[in-house]
Amino acid sequence: MAAKADPILVVGGGLGGAAAALALGRKGFSVRVLEQAPEFGVIGYGIQLGPNVFPMFDRLGVRDAVLAKSIVPNAILMIDSVDAGEIARIPTGDSFLKRFGNPYIVIHRVDLHRILLDACASVPDIELMPLTSAAAYEDLGDRVRLRTEDDRTLDGSAVIGADGLRSTIRTQMLDEGEPRMIGYVAHRTIVPMAEVRADVHREAVVLWSGPGFHIVHYPLRDGTLFNIVAVFRTSTYAEKGDAAGYRAELNRTYRDSHPAMRSLLAMMDLDRRWAISDRDPMRHWSRGRVTLLGDAAHPTLQSLAQGACMAIEDALCLAEFMEQAGGDFESAFRRYESARYLRTARVQYESRYLWDNTYHLDGIEREVMREMWAGRGEQDMFDCLAWLYDGFALPEKRAAV
Ligand SMILES: Cc1cc2nc3c(=O)[nH]c(=O)nc-3n(C[C@H](O)[C@H](O)[C@H](O)COP(=O)(O)OP(=O)(O)OC[C@H]3O[C@@H](n4cnc5c(N)ncnc54)[C@H](O)[C@@H]3O)c2cc1C
Repeated sequence: MAAKADPILVVGGGLGGAAAALALGRKGFSVRVLEQAPEFGVIGYGIQLGPNVFPMFDRLGVRDAVLAKSIVPNAILMIDSVDAGEIARIPTGDSFLKRFGNPYIVIHRVDLHRILLDACASVPDIELMPLTSAAAYEDLGDRVRLRTEDDRTLDGSAVIGADGLRSTIRTQMLDEGEPRMIGYVAHRTIVPMAEVRADVHREAVVLWSGPGFHIVHYPLRDGTLFNIVAVFRTSTYAEKGDAAGYRAELNRTYRDSHPAMRSLLAMMDLDRRWAISDRDPMRHWSRGRVTLLGDAAHPTLQSLAQGACMAIEDALCLAEFMEQAGGDFESAFRRYESARYLRTARVQYESRYLWDNTYHLDGIEREVMREMWAGRGEQDMFDCLAWLYDGFALPEKRAAV
């Protein structure tokens, strides 16, 4: 048996790691969260969260705090990048709330992170360890030993690798290659709302769709800020460039786009870009006392805006099984994977499908896609999304004997 004092070691203090720490801490586990960065949760852009994440926030006791920092958009719109015609509309107002029982929101990641971290700070047995980068683990059978990049060792009763797309824990566990690069990159920016042109939608989540590119935008922080993500296909996706080179590339890629869309591109901060990637789904992402969570387990393209939602659902599911396991974490991890892999795999596959067959089409395929979407009403949209937005049934709590 693991010594009772051995904490659970969560590697990575992103949204998934913070949610896992809070869920476990609230259940009475002692938890240490290792984060490579000097501070937890200080960087980030906007994030969309589907209604499926709210039952998780209820369990964590943070629903009201999250809602207080969120905006509920009036719709999710897909708009054509050239003629600005509406391709698809999902209303996210009253009818959405009535159908799904919870809202669709947008929030600044830093605000969401802060809420989770403040909640962690109120639980005595959660220790946040910044500037602590996990290098390798050793499963000793009765406990796990983690070595950090600066050669410290930490013992724990279990390790949860919540260390994102390029997870060190996953790499050691599965010995596989790089994530699947798809040849697209993203630039992200937040600008003051006052700088946004009047003919740009401000109260909706908007996806401008074009051949080989898209832009997503939405309001943040009481409508004072505007979040913009520009995504496009480029042969330079794997190269490091400079802002001037990126600017020329953006101008080339979006040259035929609608003027409102181009006005947003002019505001993009081009200091940094993200190469878009994912991995194939798996059934198993645990070995012995070590498991994975969130992007480390099932990284997905952003098409459904659900990567963080899945990480938070994972966190609550995992905590429930760990509580029920009476210390047998290996069996808790098997039950957790088996409960989660199909839902997360569907997010991965449907995201790929939307990416390739809806958002970025060209030519006649694009015209056919537009015609297909034009026939879909509100109810059709809700029905399509029910598998996702109706939520994930957390494992039943076991009755006390
Ligand atoms: C452009 C874009 C838009 C997106 N939009 C949305 C959206 O609207 N809605 C949504 O739900 N999802 C969205 N996502 C996906 C979402 O960002 C991720 O799925 C989510 O952040 C995953 O959370 P995570 O905690 O698993 O990993 P991460 O957020 O990647 O966190 C991992 C953490 O681990 C730390 N770390 C890494 N290695 C180590 C190590 N060796 N030791 C210690 N710490 C380490 C990192 O510093 C980081 O803090 C988007 C992604 C992108 C790229």
